[in-house]
Amino acid sequence: MPTAVCWLRRDLRLHDHRALRAACAEADAVVPLFVLDPALVRGARVSRARLVYLSDALADLDARLRRRGGRLVVRHGDPAEVVPALAAEVGADTVHWHRDATPYAATREARVTAALDREGIAHREHDGVVIQPPGSVLTKGGAPFKVYTPFARAWRAQGVAPPAAEPGRVAVPDAVASAALPAPADLGASEADRALPGGEGPGLERLERFLDGPIEVYDRSRDLLATDGTSRLSADLHYGTVSPRQVWAGLAEADAHRAFADELIFREFYHHVLAAWPETAATEWSARFRDLPWGGPGPELDAWAAGRTGYPIVDAGMRQLAATSWMHNRARMIVASFLCKDLLIDWRHGEAHFLRHLVDGDIASNNGGWQWAAGTGTDAQPYFRIFNPVRQGERFDPDGAYVRRWVPELAEVPTRWVHAPWTLGPLEQQAAGCVLGRDYPEPIVDHAAARQRALDWFATHARD
Ligand SMILES: Cc1cc2nc3c(=O)[nH]c(=O)nc-3n(C[C@H](O)[C@H](O)[C@H](O)COP(=O)(O)OP(=O)(O)OC[C@H]3O[C@@H](n4cnc5c(N)ncnc54)[C@H](O)[C@@H]3O)c2cc1C
Repeated sequence: MPTAVCWLRRDLRLHDHRALRAACAEADAVVPLFVLDPALVRGARVSRARLVYLSDALADLDARLRRRGGRLVVRHGDPAEVVPALAAEVGADTVHWHRDATPYAATREARVTAALDREGIAHREHDGVVIQPPGSVLTKGGAPFKVYTPFARAWRAQGVAPPAAEPGRVAVPDAVASAALPAPADLGASEADRALPGGEGPGLERLERFLDGPIEVYDRSRDLLATDGTSRLSADLHYGTVSPRQVWAGLAEADAHRAFADELIFREFYHHVLAAWPETAATEWSARFRDLPWGGPGPELDAWAAGRTGYPIVDAGMRQLAATSWMHNRARMIVASFLCKDLLIDWRHGEAHFLRHLVDGDIASNNGGWQWAAGTGTDAQPYFRIFNPVRQGERFDPDGAYVRRWVPELAEVPTRWVHAPWTLGPLEQQAAGCVLGRDYPEPIVDHAAARQRALDWFATHARD
């Protein structure tokens, strides 16, 4: 009887699962396989919040498979050894998976492919990590896009296929052994690291709740820091517990929906960029900005990471990240700009810090976001546009609720000064219970001077 293996990674779901569906259609027996690769679990850029999410997602997927007569098979090791070994063990003709074009995943897929070829086992790749696979959205001249707006236009022109139906039954051969589903502790994390309930069930609920109301005002609320105005689907999309096609299928032709759709396309854009220029995982996309004499670790990087820069909006963002493993997109832009431009610290340090803490840490979106902020990426914020952290705070947290929530030292500071507490006189500081240098830091740099320093620095060091 024909048997297939479905190798799962960032597609921990049953809905819209082209790889699993194809495996079930072609074979009588299917082994849904997740390989726990120690290199990934113990990697220096892994966050404990993501490991807990992964643990939740695997348990949720196993439960769903059991309701369809199957189960999840977990094995430990290097996928290039485990996948072909399991395929040989069960006598599989074909191994199916969703292509993941991010650099590490692509290299891993190439190694698995080579090992399967050696064993004479076929494999089939499907699209499901992003909606339009990298390489499929190109300029008229056949080149990858460097600018988002024409990319989005071309992306939309391709149309989006509807989500694939869930497989009805998944028959897993009884004899196939599985390691235990990993609990958070098995992965070096703990319950306390859970940022949000993970897995397809909770992810689809989040999607439904968002489409049921908040999306209608997304365009107006998405930038307001104290408002819970975004979908919180980023970790679900990262692990593929919610399929991007499924999200897309829930959208209507309204301005607010279109604004949200644009963000989904941003996610695709950064995947395409990284696939086209994989070297940008480590280096500046723009050759103009390579080899700049960026600053490195030291007290300023530590102050930034700890949320103690003395700029309330920056500190609020960094403390939200530390407390919840998530940060509002507007705050990500502000703290990233502050690190790269006010402090002139290498964006790679910020990128790594985010990956070590975010529940949605994703190489493509994170690298894209950081290179945008540093001014070094495709379609980036030009180096001479430098966010003013006070103006950003006043604009996107007008009543100071976000800052007061995450920086409680400022709770009693009147709104007029909450984004610039150093402008308060000593008596007013006493009255607000927030004496600078005692209760809350003095600003670690003067923004106006730092801005000028950055302009001069970029003008001096960027190549023509
Ligand atoms: C410096 C920096 C680093 C970032 N790092 C990450 C990261 O590691 N992982 C990550 O998923 N996003 C990252 N983002 C993008 C964005 O901040 C998050 O996707 C978003 O805040 C997640 O919250 P949400 O799901 O509620 O977003 P929503 O506003 O509801 O957006 C819906 C979805 O669209 C996608 N999306 C939204 N904004 C962006 C964007 N600017 N770039 C790419 N995709 C986007 C995400 O998948 C998100 O879940 C980063 C942005 C910046 C500026």
